[in-house]
Amino acid sequence: MADSVIAIDGPAASGKSTVAARLAGRLGIAYVNTGNMFRAVTLAARRAGITQAADCTAEKLIPVLERLDLDYERNAEGNFELRLNGTFPGEALRSPEVAALVSPVATVGPVREFLKRRQREMAGHGWLVMEGRDIGTVIFPHARYKFFVTASPLERARRRLAQEGENFSGATLEEVAKAIAERDRIDSTREIAPLKPAPDAVTVDTTGMSIEEVVDFIVGRMEHEA
Ligand code: C5P
Repeated sequence: MADSVIAIDGPAASGKSTVAARLAGRLGIAYVNTGNMFRAVTLAARRAGITQAADCTAEKLIPVLERLDLDYERNAEGNFELRLNGTFPGEALRSPEVAALVSPVATVGPVREFLKRRQREMAGHGWLVMEGRDIGTVIFPHARYKFFVTASPLERARRRLAQEGENFSGATLEEVAKAIAERDRIDSTREIAPLKPAPDAVTVDTTGMSIEEVVDFIVGRMEHEA
């Protein structure tokens, strides 16, 4: 049976979070950003003294997961808001330090298993837009709709620099592009749940498109498939 999920996957800074949130708003359904879940685990790992990629091992991260108080609260709009240790972590999730460590953390099997369970629990309460790297391939392989949202590397670096709430400490376009490319490299070459389009996903190259155009395109495809 097809899951009542719209899966949106894609590489870093492809604009998929903004698109997914707008799409959910337009359809009046809930939205989940799974990147924030991996970022929350990374923040907790950093607070536990794990700051280097080489330390991102199952042995070191399992105790972090065991102590992790990660919760989702549904707000008035029906969206899931992430809470770490009882508070909304907000900007801390978007620091350069968390961004630099999140992909190594996301390669670790027990981290992915832990979050997979949490992500699957969110389904079954009505339609959901879930956004990430492996939603259409691993988390919900039977999602009713699947989109792979991408854009050229330069456009993605520009978008990331222009993004509100991001903190780059004066980084140049080139440095941002390099950091994104490194994250994509780790995400798409990892052993478990690598970043790639599901065979039945519709790929949307959003280079040169506005957010509204991308949302219109996705809604159009869904109507076409319905
Ligand atoms: O989407 P965002 O860029 O915030 O994701 C941060 C990182 O979390 C990704 O680069 C990836 O390493 C990891 N991630 C993942 N699987 C997901 C969502 C995010 O591995 N479903």
